[in-house]
Amino acid sequence: MKKIVVLGAGYAGLKTVVALQKKVKGVAQITLVDQNDYHYEATDLHEVASGNLPASKISYPIKGVLDSAVTTFIQDRVTKVDPATKTVELAHHEPLKYDYCVMALGFVSENFGIKGATENSLPMASVDEANAIHEHLVATMKNYRESHDANDLKIIICGAGFTGIELAGALHDAKKRLAGVAGVQPDDIEITLIDASSRLLPMFNDKLANYGVALLQKLQIKIIKDAFINEIQPGKVLYKKKDDAEDTPLHEIDANTIIWTTGVSGSPVVGESGLPERRGRVMDTDHLTAPDDDDLYMIGDVAAVMPPDGKRPYPTTAQISLSMANYVAKDLAARLNGGNRPGTYTYKSLGTVASVGNTRAFGVAMGGHYHGYPASFIKKMIMNKSLLETGGVKELMAKGRFDLYH
Ligand code: NAD
Repeated sequence: MKKIVVLGAGYAGLKTVVALQKKVKGVAQITLVDQNDYHYEATDLHEVASGNLPASKISYPIKGVLDSAVTTFIQDRVTKVDPATKTVELAHHEPLKYDYCVMALGFVSENFGIKGATENSLPMASVDEANAIHEHLVATMKNYRESHDANDLKIIICGAGFTGIELAGALHDAKKRLAGVAGVQPDDIEITLIDASSRLLPMFNDKLANYGVALLQKLQIKIIKDAFINEIQPGKVLYKKKDDAEDTPLHEIDANTIIWTTGVSGSPVVGESGLPERRGRVMDTDHLTAPDDDDLYMIGDVAAVMPPDGKRPYPTTAQISLSMANYVAKDLAARLNGGNRPGTYTYKSLGTVASVGNTRAFGVAMGGHYHGYPASFIKKMIMNKSLLETGGVKELMAKGRFDLYH
């Protein structure tokens, strides 16, 4: 029996196992490794950080979708992969030998070396980190009752990419509840997004990007653009404006909640394993394997995959992770069962939709531009599709978003 190890039970890893275990029964044994015993929908972390949803609503037990006749689950942290000896090293278990490895270890928050970012701001790249943000927010709002410090009511989000914008929208929805904790009016809570770019939402055309920015402003979310963050101090963000002279002192803005969403990199295990990487990502071959190693698949956020125009790799999303997983399951099944391997991996995005709270969204899907309620509907359908594809009907019914009519 061939040995397949799948590292990571996020969108890419868990989908690979779910798709593969039906195809390789009797010819291969799968071992899945993850540091948690649950899978979570990373696209919903902002809902947990804002306290709009409990973590249990965006996660489910990994074992619930495994076929124990084919797949063994090990809960542990992967520390290194050695492609030369085909071995995976784990923090608390004996090393695992493999014939084929699928590395799908996901992303971590990237601080780009900005001084004080790690120490003085809150990342949002895991369920634990999202929970920590929510606990911090509640404690800070509670503190306001005693302190009457206006900074307790201020929230700064560093980085206005999709993650920052979706978090800002979710925090807007949470304002009423947080205001209740602080004993103030919802409008007393201030949410600010800071970003280095002049134009937010670069993936959208002007009309849609302007719609998104206007929507945030309508919700009284402040936006500071052209602002490159240089340093984070306790309760303070220091930044340089694009047009500032060389000797202009840094601008400062205060808040007792500072959240870091300036981007992500692939798992540090990629670098630890000596693979050729940039920000934790490996430029994949046409078959989603590491260069010069046809038995090591790299998928999800640890992979960079070039579209046919060859300009910039596809953005990392849940959607592309699921698509890569389906491809790898087909490719591996063909190799193990002696069938024809699929051709070069190709990806067609179904669309990109950003939510701004529970009932508002905007984006591009199925060739059209959408905003407002229709976009929010599409966004929830996209999330439900991902739940169904990996978790099955059981998890869709338990965790799906069916509040489609408002
Ligand atoms: P991102 O890289 O897309 O955005 C980070 C933002 O931070 C950028 O706008 C950048 O200008 C800003 N930034 C970086 N360093 C800065 C600094 N020092 N000072 C000021 N601003 C700074 O990262 P993300 O939002 O975490 O998204 C990561 C990936 O996940 C992207 O590919 C994104 O498209 C995807 N994503 C998709 C969805 C969705 O489909 N709904 C949701 C979330 C994330």
